[in-house]
Amino acid sequence: MSGVEIYPGAAKARMRTLVTGGAGFVGSHLVEHLLDLGDDVVVLDDLSTGSARNLAGVADNPRLEMIHGSILNTKTVSAAMKDCDRVFHLAAAVGVKLIVEQPLRGLRINIHGTENVLTAAIEHQASVLMVSTSEVYGKNTADRLREDSDRILGDPLLSRWTYAGAKGIDEAFAKAYSDQEGLDVSIVRLFNTVGPRQTGRYGMVLPNLVGQALRGQPLTVFGDGQQTRCFSAVEDVVPAMVAIERDPRARGQAYNLGGAREISILDLASEIIRVLDSRSTIELVPYEQAYAPGFEDMRRRVPDNTKAHDLVGYEPHTSLTSTIMRVAADLLSRERLGSDAMPLSGVGAFRGVI
Ligand code: UDP
Repeated sequence: MSGVEIYPGAAKARMRTLVTGGAGFVGSHLVEHLLDLGDDVVVLDDLSTGSARNLAGVADNPRLEMIHGSILNTKTVSAAMKDCDRVFHLAAAVGVKLIVEQPLRGLRINIHGTENVLTAAIEHQASVLMVSTSEVYGKNTADRLREDSDRILGDPLLSRWTYAGAKGIDEAFAKAYSDQEGLDVSIVRLFNTVGPRQTGRYGMVLPNLVGQALRGQPLTVFGDGQQTRCFSAVEDVVPAMVAIERDPRARGQAYNLGGAREISILDLASEIIRVLDSRSTIELVPYEQAYAPGFEDMRRRVPDNTKAHDLVGYEPHTSLTSTIMRVAADLLSRERLGSDAMPLSGVGAFRGVI
C-alpha cells in the first residue's frame, strides 16, 4: 500500500499485531498493510459481516494467522492476544441497517466485546488502537466537527442511536482504562470510509448505489438526498491509523479520519451514474420505508482532520471518482468469482475496466 511511503516512521521493528475484525472491509486492508510493513499478524474475526475471502490475497502469507472466534468470548480474546505487542480493535457490529434490525446484538458486541479486548490488552501489556466512528457526534451539523465537539444524540430508545451510544461508551472505557489502569490506547473516528470490499449488504451507501448502477437499477437515495457526507478512501485512512498507533503523543487521545470533500447523497448518486456511464435513474425513498418509522438521519457530517494532520500528516488525497471505479471493479470481480449474492449485468463498457 502507498502509505508505507507516506509514513516512513511506521516501518520499525518487527511486531506481532492482533487485528480484531481483520476479515472485514477496513480490517482486511489494514492486515495487508501491516504484513507489508513486516508485522506478524493475527486476525480474530467471527465472520458475521466479514469474510475470509477479503483476505484471499494474503491467505498464504506465513506471517498471517487467522482465528475464527468472537470478541464476546474472553478466553478466545486472551488466546488471540498472546505475545502480541499491539492490537487494532475493529471488530464491531456496523452498518445502520444492521444496528436498526439487531440492536441487542450490536450493543453486546460493541460494549461487552470492546471491554473484553481492553482488559485482555492490559493482561498482555499490548497497546491498542481503537476504531470508533463519526456517529459519536450524532446530529451535530457543525461546519467542521472537531474531536472535542459536542455529541447531539436522539432518544436512546430509538435503535438508530444505539451504535453512537455504544461507541461513545467504548471511547469512555478506553479513556478510563488509559487514565486508571495505564493502558496505552488511542482512538480514531472514521468518517464514512469507502473502498473495495465494502459491501452494500448492511446499508452502506456507496457500494449499494454502485451495485445498483452496475445492475441498471434505480439508485435508492433516502430522504430528500440533501444530507451530506465526506467519504474517505480506505487507502488514505489505513496508513494513518498505523502511524497514530505508533505515536506516543496519541495516547488517551481521539483523532478524526475523514474525507476532504463534502457531497450530498443525491450528488453522489449522480456522480456514480456519470462515472460508470450507467443507464440507471435515481429514486427518492422515504426514510420510514428505507429503515423504520421514526428513523432520524444525520443531515451533515463534516470532519475537521487538523488533529490527525498535525500529528502524523494525515491528508486524504484519493478522489471519489477513483474510489467509485475501484468499488465497481471490485463488485464485478467478486461476481465473476461467484462470491457476491448480487447478480450484476448491463454495465456495458465498464466491464472492460477490470
Ligand atoms: N443512504 C441512501 N441510500 C442507500 C443507503 C444509504 O441514500 O442505499 C443514505 C443514508 O440514509 C445516509 C447516507 O446515505 O444519509 C450514508 O449512509 P451510510 O449508511 O452509508 O452511512 P452513515 O453516514 O449513515 O453512517
